[in-house]
Amino acid sequence: MRVYNFSAGPSMLPEEVLKRVQAGIVDYNGSGMSVMEMSHRSKPYEKINDEAEALLRELMCIPDDYDVIFVQGGATNQFSAVPLNIGTVSRKADYIVTGNFAEKAYEEGARFIDAKVVASSKDAKFTYIPHTTPDMFRRDADFVHICYNNTIFGTRYTAPPDTAGVPLVCDMSSMILSQTVNVKDFSLIYAGAQKNIGPAGVTVVIVKHDMIGRADSHCPVMLRYADQVKAKSLYNTPPCFSTYVVMEVLKYLKECGGVSAIQKVNERKAKKLYDYIDSSDFYRNDVQKPFRSMMNVPFVSPSAELDDMFVKGAAERGLVSIKGHRLVGGMRASIYNAMPEEGVDALIEYMKDFKSKA
Ligand SMILES: *Cc1c(COP(=O)(O)O)cnc(C)c1O
Repeated sequence: MRVYNFSAGPSMLPEEVLKRVQAGIVDYNGSGMSVMEMSHRSKPYEKINDEAEALLRELMCIPDDYDVIFVQGGATNQFSAVPLNIGTVSRKADYIVTGNFAEKAYEEGARFIDAKVVASSKDAKFTYIPHTTPDMFRRDADFVHICYNNTIFGTRYTAPPDTAGVPLVCDMSSMILSQTVNVKDFSLIYAGAQKNIGPAGVTVVIVKHDMIGRADSHCPVMLRYADQVKAKSLYNTPPCFSTYVVMEVLKYLKECGGVSAIQKVNERKAKKLYDYIDSSDFYRNDVQKPFRSMMNVPFVSPSAELDDMFVKGAAERGLVSIKGHRLVGGMRASIYNAMPEEGVDALIEYMKDFKSKA
């Protein structure tokens, strides 16, 4: 039996995609082998690699002057790759710290370059996105780094900050393809696949062409965008199977109407859940309303004991991995693209039920 899996990552994949992958697991497309067994230099794999890129370009309307690569090491590896590749002119970068991952990105940047926190919401336990004005950024900074959706704290940007022309780098790990974004607003976008676009093991990097080719001479080759772009993500053995599943997810998303169609569903799912939380005198979400995430919804009941009971009871009803992150406590419902609307309905039903019995 499939459950509704509210895990923040790795997280649910569309059942239809899992079935398609299953159908090809022993003999992919008449090749007589699984993608897991296939040379990454073979024609069928090259086709998968090309198609994954083409679909991502189409779904996100990525302009031609941006390169797209599929790399390893997770979003965390990009915390190092970004300063080593593009923090190389003034060697200064400004970071907005809106949560745990944004802070880790800053800390890693600070190992290599002059990294500065220009704004932070740590003072209020990351329950909002700090307002910034263009004059807050150093004019000669090589980039400004933000995290669009804060997976642990459940906040998100509603629009990218105005950096007065300083290139904007954005961690989109937990919201990529959940809503439309204007790629042109960013010089670099990266996202680990395991939240919204596939299994763990592959990370998407979308980088404006004029940002590459200026990597630090000490930058390891695996982190170098120029080499990965030149090799079309096949510099060494890539995570073939993960990239293949990403390709199937993208294909499926296109069949479902693309990003604007899934955005409507996501907006409806999130609204239902927040509306119920707000209408109840039992559950609470502490994020300032304008900044509430559409993907990760943290909430608490009146006590830690009740939270524990809630999580246990939820699992018994097939609503799993809903325990909050240890930094926040309580519960967190991650409702990425692959979470069906019925899953959110089932959660709200359970919340009502639990409240009436508590
Ligand atoms: C999960 C997550 C990360 C870390 O991703 P890894 O692939 O595990 O390195 C970084 N940033 C955000 C916003 C995330 O949600």
